[in-house]
Amino acid sequence: MNTTPKKIVIAIDGFSSCGKSTFAKSIAARLGYIFIDTGAMYRAVTLYALENEGIRNGIVDEEAVVALLSQISITFRFNAQRGASDIYVNGDLVEGKIRTIEVSNCVSAVSSIREVREKLVAMQQEMGAARGVVMDGRDIGTVVFPDAELKIYMTADAMVRAERRYAELTAKGDKVSLDEVLENVVSRDKADMSRAISPLRQAEDAIVLDNSYMTVEEQMAWFEREFERVQQSLA
Ligand code: C5P
Repeated sequence: MNTTPKKIVIAIDGFSSCGKSTFAKSIAARLGYIFIDTGAMYRAVTLYALENEGIRNGIVDEEAVVALLSQISITFRFNAQRGASDIYVNGDLVEGKIRTIEVSNCVSAVSSIREVREKLVAMQQEMGAARGVVMDGRDIGTVVFPDAELKIYMTADAMVRAERRYAELTAKGDKVSLDEVLENVVSRDKADMSRAISPLRQAEDAIVLDNSYMTVEEQMAWFEREFERVQQSLA
């Protein structure tokens, strides 16, 4: 019997700030898979739009953003220290600039633009074409890889998520209040679930992971069981 695990696509979708990237990164390290944070790609486009008049005074100008798209080249480079890939726009490292509250406040509007999604989804499909990939986002199991062998839908209590993001931002020295972060988390969830194109929703064949009160170790133990189940079904 061939016991070599089959390389698969692992799609992780879910609400903002519920630890999808941390979880996906651990899985990728454990399996030797490539990890792709698709939220970072939408954030990178948003940052570029903020810096190039695609967004003025917090208002997203859709036409201007679409016109900027052809100037944006997104690449990833593995950073061994972080154990994940850093994101670059036109060769500039932007990893440290894409998680500010300013970007978070505009990213849902930018990600609801059809042309933005078409460009990024095509890139994501190309990056995962050889499989052996863990991708996290909002539409991975429904649109980007509807044929993913393992689909996980992550969720956690909104206040727990806001507290996690608040701790992350204040540790970096960002001046934000917990209320502001909670408001952003809740409004992004709402916008992501109600947009017309590729809204956030649980794929029919996705399994739910509510990690509100789970440690990373407990989440990994849960994952090992699910991964094993999928591998057995493919054997
Ligand atoms: O995952 P993260 O919170 O960094 O994602 C930022 C935003 O990018 C989301 O709130 C959502 O609007 C958008 N996004 C998306 N589709 C994805 C990943 C992220 O629309 N696959």
